[in-house]
Amino acid sequence: METLKDKIRHVPDFPKAGILFYDITTLLRDPAGFHAVIDSLVLPFSDAGIDVVVGIESRGFILGGAVAERLGAGFSPVRKPGKLPSTTVRETYALEYGTDCLEIHDDGVTAGQRVLIVDDVIATGGTARATAALVRRLGGSVEGIACLIELLALNGRAQLEGEKVLAVLKY
Ligand code: AMP
Repeated sequence: METLKDKIRHVPDFPKAGILFYDITTLLRDPAGFHAVIDSLVLPFSDAGIDVVVGIESRGFILGGAVAERLGAGFSPVRKPGKLPSTTVRETYALEYGTDCLEIHDDGVTAGQRVLIVDDVIATGGTARATAALVRRLGGSVEGIACLIELLALNGRAQLEGEKVLAVLKY
């Protein structure tokens, strides 16, 4: 896991002052690193009967697409408002300052499907929590939330109580 950490680039003050951005593009471009990441995300859920992986814009698309294919599951995107072409359901959630929104197609998950949510980073947990709410509004069963990086200082798990959260790397 330490070698995976070595492949992640840390970019200070992006996208704004005071944020340390975990840039996974340097890991994704490395074939062995990318393979190992997908292995780690898939293994805990290989017998979970996942029907659909829901990936969160935008790095969750890259990881979630590969995870879905390995699990033999489908893939459904969660995006910022106005990006998905068909009818959607929307969830608004609180940020440190203000609010943000996420959408999923209203047929992106169907009732009773077993869903794995995938993203690159869990920081405050708000994005993953809103995504779980979208899945449940469509009648999906959230079997887990898998991310590459968990930022422990932000205590995202407090927002995700009751969820099965897998983080491959912790900082
Ligand atoms: P949060 O809702 O606070 O858990 O934020 C998670 C979302 O923001 C994920 O989709 C991440 O891609 C992105 N994110 C938050 N903090 C960082 C960070 N320090 N480095 C990279 N991405 C981040």
